[in-house]
Amino acid sequence: MIFSVNKHVKILIKLFLVLFLLVTAFFVRSQNAEASPMMQDGPTYIVQQGDTLNTIALRFGVSAEEIQSINNLSDPNALNIGQRLVIPGLPGISGVLTSTTLPFGTTLTKLSRQYQSNLADLAVLNKITSPSESMAGLRFIIPVKEDQDPFQPVGLIATGGTLLETAIRAGASPWILTQHNQLQSSWAVMPGETLFSMIDPDSPETTNTPSLQITLIDLPIIQGETLQIAINSTTNAAFSGFFDNQPLNFFTDDDKNFYSFMGIHALAEPKPYPLSITATYPDGRSQTMEQLVLLAEGGYGNEWVNVPEGYLDEEAIAEEDAYLETILTQTSPERFWDGLFRYPVDEPCLNSLFGQRRDYNNGGLYFYHTGIDFAVCAQNLNVYAPAAGKIVVAEELFVKGKAIVIDHGWGVFSGYWHLSEFNANVGDFVEPGDIIGQIGNTGRSAGPHLHFEIDITGTPVNPLTWLEQEFPQPAQ
Ligand SMILES: [Zn+2]
Repeated sequence: MIFSVNKHVKILIKLFLVLFLLVTAFFVRSQNAEASPMMQDGPTYIVQQGDTLNTIALRFGVSAEEIQSINNLSDPNALNIGQRLVIPGLPGISGVLTSTTLPFGTTLTKLSRQYQSNLADLAVLNKITSPSESMAGLRFIIPVKEDQDPFQPVGLIATGGTLLETAIRAGASPWILTQHNQLQSSWAVMPGETLFSMIDPDSPETTNTPSLQITLIDLPIIQGETLQIAINSTTNAAFSGFFDNQPLNFFTDDDKNFYSFMGIHALAEPKPYPLSITATYPDGRSQTMEQLVLLAEGGYGNEWVNVPEGYLDEEAIAEEDAYLETILTQTSPERFWDGLFRYPVDEPCLNSLFGQRRDYNNGGLYFYHTGIDFAVCAQNLNVYAPAAGKIVVAEELFVKGKAIVIDHGWGVFSGYWHLSEFNANVGDFVEPGDIIGQIGNTGRSAGPHLHFEIDITGTPVNPLTWLEQEFPQPAQ
């Protein structure tokens, strides 16, 4: 069922793209008609690794021949990394065309203020028709002026706040702020907007100004991966929020850096989802930032597995899942783990990856693999705690066999299924490297192996990411 939905979405996206290209072609052509005879004018693009004349032409909606001729290129296949090319057909736009992934909280208006470029130019360059299309996670092109550093954010307009207030808090002139932010007047600004200006990061005004930065790592969000939101704040605000109507829990160990983790379901439909974050200040004022964030496909494959028929009993599976969900959706406010997770076995020989769409006994691809499987290849069968935490499950279940679950805090859990024996008890506090059990073949298992998974807010995520990448990652 999921596959037919995906197919429809793909067809819709294709239709949408064709429509966009048609509209853009018209737009670019009508702009060309007004172009001045000074054809060498125009923004430049710096050739990156993997670029060809055709990919560059496609990106900017011009023909490869036009780029070749305006830049006097004798051999279109001999592009050098770092080479500057003038991009034709973009009259009035100057600077270096730089590609960037839109971070959360950045709107087209914000980008235009930060880089002091025209809103209409950004719309043309990025082939968009409405500012609401500037969703986080999309690749965006910005004309960066080389002789001027981007402006820095000087403050957010709070609900009920004014530009004058923000200017005073930031130690900036309201008139300069009005000018730098391309505003008609000092009251033509909405709550929640960020204002930009030239500021000296070391000046006392800047260091005394409360700062608030929100970072989403690894945009776009990917099916089956970990969504981490990091906030660096010196505002004494409390944070809350929603991703696709699911509440976000924020945690901190130092009252300055706040983190929220959410597991993105491996079968979540790839499309933009709303994310909103609210800061509530000690004086009761609050401020909400909301934006669509792109969720992209994980590119998972399919696999076919045979198990004894009795293990596919839907009622028994649902009962076991519901039991575990009551445990995996709890959130310990304390973070027990520190740094990278270590491998839970001595010889990590993987024989099945996370996210694979699974068919059991030719019944159809209705399942997916919620963890990674390690085959037996070490001299021993030891299973180790990958990080510190508290044992919250150590019991024999129907599908998962002898199962252990460790609570690592902040809504992050790890699970170990199909064990032959337990070397830890519920309530034990374990350190990384402690032996917690032995690899086995209990429950729905087609041979001795360890199934290892990581669950966040009750949703399994790709555990390899946690073995390769340290969490939490600070706000940038
Ligand atoms: Zn498995």
